[in-house]
Amino acid sequence: MRVSRRELVKAAGAAALFPLPALAQGAGPKVVVIGGGFAGASAARFVKQQDRAIAVTLVEINPTFTACPFSNGVIAGLRELRAQQFNYERLAETGVTLAFQPATAVDAQARRVTLNGGTQLSYDRLVMAPGIDLRFDGLPGYTEAAAQEMPHAWKAGEQTLLLRRQLEAMEDGGTVVIVAPANPFRCPPGPYERASLIAHYLKTKKPKSKVLILDAKDAFSKQRLFQNAWKELYPDHLEWVSLSQGGKVNEVDVKERTLVTDFTRHKASVANVIPPQRAGAIAQSAGVADRSGWCPVDPATFESKLVPNIHVIGDAAIMGGMPKSAFSANAQAKVCAEVVATLLKGGTPAEPRLINTCYSLVAPDYGITVAGVYKPTNGQLADIPGAGGVSPADAPRSARALEAQFADGWFKTITGEVFG
Ligand SMILES: Cc1cc2nc3c(=O)[nH]c(=O)nc-3n(C[C@H](O)[C@H](O)[C@H](O)COP(=O)(O)OP(=O)(O)OC[C@H]3O[C@@H](n4cnc5c(N)ncnc54)[C@H](O)[C@@H]3O)c2cc1C
Repeated sequence: MRVSRRELVKAAGAAALFPLPALAQGAGPKVVVIGGGFAGASAARFVKQQDRAIAVTLVEINPTFTACPFSNGVIAGLRELRAQQFNYERLAETGVTLAFQPATAVDAQARRVTLNGGTQLSYDRLVMAPGIDLRFDGLPGYTEAAAQEMPHAWKAGEQTLLLRRQLEAMEDGGTVVIVAPANPFRCPPGPYERASLIAHYLKTKKPKSKVLILDAKDAFSKQRLFQNAWKELYPDHLEWVSLSQGGKVNEVDVKERTLVTDFTRHKASVANVIPPQRAGAIAQSAGVADRSGWCPVDPATFESKLVPNIHVIGDAAIMGGMPKSAFSANAQAKVCAEVVATLLKGGTPAEPRLINTCYSLVAPDYGITVAGVYKPTNGQLADIPGAGGVSPADAPRSARALEAQFADGWFKTITGEVFG
């Protein structure tokens, strides 16, 4: 009997209720992908595109994906959360089998993934792309319960809306405090884009209020461009306190809505705490993460340095100079797909070159960019000197407005490519 893709998708969903011993995976070589975000959904699509004979199964917890890029705009009231949400129907049409359940275990010896409910998937190659987990043990006082009072909004969805509602409910004259983590973390320019768009919201809606960034670093992505723009646009609405100025938050007092640094207790009207992070939990339990909490990989193939036949891509992996971005995740997925298809045929993968571009909005009509090109060097993905760069420091406002439009175009293009 021929089973339609739609039914396979349904069967995968139903397995959550009625555990099945195994999910039909087809007769060809088997690739399982864990995580249907920018990295994983792209990898599943491109492996299938490389070779239709490969049986590709994508394991993802949620049937609806909520994208982080542009979610700072949702927080600032510039767009709605539904503009961030995508489903996997078009991906299923390409022949990728979908299983909407959490992967709970990986047996690297037997090359088997276990899903919640007991379903088992065997693989020849496994691609892991589980993104990040927030380290609720990484900042004293900041627990999962605390995140309901002081949202991180670093995984898009309910947390994004919670932070937006808190801003909307805040009285004019309040202080919004953003706690920015030390490196490495998801989206290096993200906290500064967020601060900018919140400052824009305050300037236009609650002009007696301000946003304060308490930072565990002395330097950050696109710093000069951000700081020049802040001087121009938000001189009274945004303040950055660096590590050496005492910006590092050592403790969070949820009851008092207070952030504690070496010298000061900062009382916040709204607190947005972005805690330290690590690779998603399944990477830890599969043994592909090291003591740093992130996953070391071969920079040419993204195969785990710790467990054979498992490739790790996206935010979960240690990618040297390449930042943890959706653009990077998608670029790594394309390389990984080619590597996996080549290895399954017994070939030798070519050495890759990868590109990343990160757009940030400082205001709805003010965009800035950083771009880089990367290649494997001394066991790491390293920046090729002179190949990338940032937006010019002295560009006119018309160029900033154009970059804001490019940012919008990029989001439409990447989400179209990944989710169809
Ligand atoms: C506020 C903000 C703004 C950002 N802006 C930009 C931007 O402008 N440009 C840009 O390029 N990047 C941006 N980023 C970064 C970008 O969101 C991430 O780098 C990107 O999502 C990483 O992709 P990923 O696939 O590794 O992880 P994710 O996209 O998080 O996907 C991981 C997926 O794995 C699933 N998963 C986890 N564990 C399991 C499991 N056990 N079983 C099954 N599924 C599992 C999750 O449900 C999730 O869907 C931003 C991030 C933030 C927070």
